[in-house]
Amino acid sequence: MARGADLAYTGGMATALKSKTGGEDPARYDVVVAGGGFAGGTLALALAKLAPKGFRVALVDAAPRESGSHRAPDARGLALSAASKSLLEAIGLWAGLEAKAQPICSIEITDSPLNASLRPHFLGFDEEMKTDAPRAYLVEASDVLHAIDAAITKEPAIELFAPDNVEAYATDAFDVRTKLASGTTLEAPLLVAADGKRSRLKEQSGIKCIAWSYPQLGIVATVAHERPHHGKAVQHFLPAGPFAILPLTGNRSSIVWTEEKARGQELMAGSDEAFTAELTRRFGHRLGAIALEGPRQSFPLECQMARSFVADRLALIGDAAHAVHPLAGQGLNIGWRDVAALTETIVEALRLGLDIGTATTLERYQRWRRFDSAFSATVMDGLNRLFSNDSVPLRAIRDLGLGLVDRAPGLKRFLVREAAGGTGSVPRLLKGEGL
Ligand SMILES: Cc1cc2nc3c(=O)[nH]c(=O)nc-3n(C[C@H](O)[C@H](O)[C@H](O)COP(=O)(O)OP(=O)(O)OC[C@H]3O[C@@H](n4cnc5c(N)ncnc54)[C@H](O)[C@@H]3O)c2cc1C
Repeated sequence: MARGADLAYTGGMATALKSKTGGEDPARYDVVVAGGGFAGGTLALALAKLAPKGFRVALVDAAPRESGSHRAPDARGLALSAASKSLLEAIGLWAGLEAKAQPICSIEITDSPLNASLRPHFLGFDEEMKTDAPRAYLVEASDVLHAIDAAITKEPAIELFAPDNVEAYATDAFDVRTKLASGTTLEAPLLVAADGKRSRLKEQSGIKCIAWSYPQLGIVATVAHERPHHGKAVQHFLPAGPFAILPLTGNRSSIVWTEEKARGQELMAGSDEAFTAELTRRFGHRLGAIALEGPRQSFPLECQMARSFVADRLALIGDAAHAVHPLAGQGLNIGWRDVAALTETIVEALRLGLDIGTATTLERYQRWRRFDSAFSATVMDGLNRLFSNDSVPLRAIRDLGLGLVDRAPGLKRFLVREAAGGTGSVPRLLKGEGL
C-alpha cells in the first residue's frame, strides 16, 4: 500500500481516510491499544477524551462484550490511591464509582506467628490519614471493569474489537500494522501493549524481562462481618506471607491472603466451612462473626519488569510493563501512572505536530516511568522477603524498625503521601490538573 495516499495530517493528527475493510487496506487509527482491561481501557478513554478532536482509538480485547457479564468474575478488592482517583475523575469514571468506593481512614500493621494469641500493633497510620480528602479507597475490581466497559461503549472516538486477539505486528518508517486473530489489520503511528503479564506483544517485540515467581499464592475473597470496620485496613505479616483485611462499603471487607503455594492450593480445594474456619483464625474477633460473600479466587504471584518500556512504535503499559507483589496494593496504581504519563506525552506531542510513535516521543514516556516502576517493584519484593518468614532474629529487627517508624510522625506522613501517589514526578492527570 502506498503510504502517502491514505494518510492526511490535521494539526499533527493522523486522520483515518479508509474505513475498516478487513481486506487488503488496513483500517487506520491514531493509536491501537491492545488489551482493554484496567490499563488499556483507561488509556483508550483518556486519549478519546483529552487528545485533540478527531483522534481515533482502536481498542482490541480478548474478552467478549455481548452481555453485561462478559468478563470472568474478579473477586479482588482494589486499593486505589488518591492519585488514581484523580485519573478516574479526569476520564469521567469516578462519579459512577464513588458510592461504591470505601475510603480508607486508618491502617494497622502487625507482625506475629500464626498461632499468636495476640497480634500486637507495631505500626499504625491514623492521624496521618486524617486529611481533607481520603488518601486511598477500596473498590471492587468488577465495579471498576464494568465502569470502564460501559464508558467505552459510549465513546464515539473508540472503536472496540472484542472478542479478538492481537496476534502479531510489523512496523515501517511511519506506521505499525497490527494483525488480529479475526484477520483484521489495524494501522496507526503507535501501538500500545496493555495485554497484561503474559503480553504477546512484549514477547514479539523481543523486549526481555527480569522476572521471578513467588512460592506463594494470592487468595482473594469478599467477607461479610457482624461489626463495622470504620474504614480501617489491617495488614498482618504472617510467616507464609501478608494477610490483608481491606474495608469495602457496608460491613464487608476484601481479603488478600498470601499463602505458601501448596497450602494455598489445599485451602482453595477445601470446603467453604474449612476455609472460613482458617479465615477466622486470622481475622480475630474484632469484626465479630464472619461469612464468605461470593467465590474465592487465587492468583499466582510474580514480579516482572520489562527491560525497556518501549520499542519501535510500541509502548508497554500496566502489567505488560511491570507486575509487582500485591502486598501493598500498588500494581494497578503504578499502571495508572503509566496511563497518565503516556496520555500526557501523546497529547503534548500532538499539540506540537509531532509523530507520536517516534523514538523521541516514546523515550520521554520511558524516562518518566521506568525507574519509578522498578523502584516500586523492588520495594514490594524486599518487603515480602523481609516479612514472609518465621525467623525470630529477623522478626526482632523488623519490629524494632516498625516501632521506630511508628514514632516518627514526619516519616509516616511522607509514607502516606507516597502511597497516595503524590510524590516524585507526577503526571498532571494524577494531580487533578487538566492537560
Ligand atoms: C491478588 C491481587 C491483588 C491485587 N490488588 C491490587 C490492589 O489492591 N491495588 C492495585 O493497584 N493493584 C492490585 N493488583 C494488581 C492489579 O490487579 C494489576 O496491576 C492489574 O490487573 C493490571 O491491569 P492490566 O490492564 O495491565 O492487565 P490485565 O488486568 O491483565 O488486563 C489485560 C487485558 O488484556 C486482554 N488481553 C490479553 N491478551 C490479549 C491479546 N493477545 N489481544 C487482546 N487482548 C488481550 C485481556 O482480556 C485483559 O482485558 C492486584 C493483583 C493481584 C494478583
